[in-house]
Amino acid sequence: MNITERTGYQDFSLLIKPASADCNLNCEYCFYLDKCHLYGESVRHRMTDDVLERIIESYLRTEQSIYSLGWQGGEPTLMGLPFFEKVVALQMKHGKKGASVANGLQTNGTLIDAPFARFLSRYQFLIGCSLDGPPEIHNRYRTNRLGEPSHQNVIRGLNHLKNAEASVNILVLVSRANVGHARQVYRYLTSEGHYYQQYIPCVEFDKAGKPMPFSITAQEWGRFLCELFDEWYFKDTRRVSIRHFDSILSKIVDGVENVCTLGQNCCQYFVVEYNGDIYPCDFFVDRPLKLGNIMTSSWSELQQSKIYRDFGDQKKQWNPHCDRCNCLHLCNGDCLKHRLFAGNSPDNLSFLCEGWKQFLNHSQGGFNQLARQILMERETESRMPKSVPSPMYHRKRVGRNALCPCGSGLKYKKCCGRMD
Ligand code: SF4
Ligand code: SF4
Ligand code: SF4
Repeated sequence: MNITERTGYQDFSLLIKPASADCNLNCEYCFYLDKCHLYGESVRHRMTDDVLERIIESYLRTEQSIYSLGWQGGEPTLMGLPFFEKVVALQMKHGKKGASVANGLQTNGTLIDAPFARFLSRYQFLIGCSLDGPPEIHNRYRTNRLGEPSHQNVIRGLNHLKNAEASVNILVLVSRANVGHARQVYRYLTSEGHYYQQYIPCVEFDKAGKPMPFSITAQEWGRFLCELFDEWYFKDTRRVSIRHFDSILSKIVDGVENVCTLGQNCCQYFVVEYNGDIYPCDFFVDRPLKLGNIMTSSWSELQQSKIYRDFGDQKKQWNPHCDRCNCLHLCNGDCLKHRLFAGNSPDNLSFLCEGWKQFLNHSQGGFNQLARQILMERETESRMPKSVPSPMYHRKRVGRNALCPCGSGLKYKKCCGRMD
């Protein structure tokens, strides 16, 4: 019999690192590789069967509307296909009848072969694959330890995923390599048939709090997003999904915050390291923020831990400027990663503030227009006889009750809310 653990708090998802920070690549801008020092650099880090089963069994015992597990690294495919077969078998063993389990896999794509791709497709893993643009851009920072480029190997993995009809989101890290090339990167990805895209700003600091050479500035981020928005808004809103844009729409249309950066509290998910250690956020895997270990702590203890609650509360302790900012409802002070660097306090203005302002002021009119359109289409749809499909939705690819391909773990109708 399954016993449900009542945690007393909101739904939470898991971001699991079965191979810790181990990776077959050595990207110059990687923020996670140096986490090796936490668990010994010369050691090979691999999750054991005991830890894996404990994570799955205990999580599936909590009450969640959707059980959302993201497999990440480092490079999680270093675990090999048999590990992920075990993951699915354990989820079947411990899942309650009727439970929705959503698996995501964030990968560099280079180790994915045809059988792996078929498995991921069969069990509906949503894949997030890193690709920063065409070869001359991607290869600037994304190389192996010998400095060899990875673009070709990523494309090989993506082709296997495409052949297997797996769901793939492309993850673009916006660094010094591509920040001036939003249009080029966007057109490259769409011309290759990648219609689900996510853009992440590369902002890293050295110990003295100085931006690393591959980091972008706030102004560059703002310009990049404006150019991307214009490219998408005028012709592609029904063809291409850009994660952050969809999240903004979701917030405007339904008031749903489906990415943590749009929220007011950072108690959103847990990072589970290869040995079961738990942390509050991927960007804050550090000893002082270790919340416990899943072999000895329950999820309710972890959710109630003072370290976790205090960490989460910092999101709302934004700078006084934010209170007067017309973008606050779509920014909420920005991610703590861009505020807490170099020992700053949570009320430090985000390093990317100017960029967010520039983009949100540029795009708010467009988003509001799209939001009106979505509401009108919903209204039209609700008035149509159920047997007659709406002509607006003739290119529908995702069921309203299916998991949203943006990776939020929510149902599509509760998330991006648009049919394309
Ligand atoms: S592939 Fe990902 S985890 Fe590996 S080095 Fe590059 S950024 Fe880091
Ligand atoms: S610190 Fe940033 S990434 Fe982490 S939970 Fe908060 S908003 Fe999300
Ligand atoms: S744009 Fe800047 S001032 Fe406005 S809410 Fe965001 S971080 Fe605060």
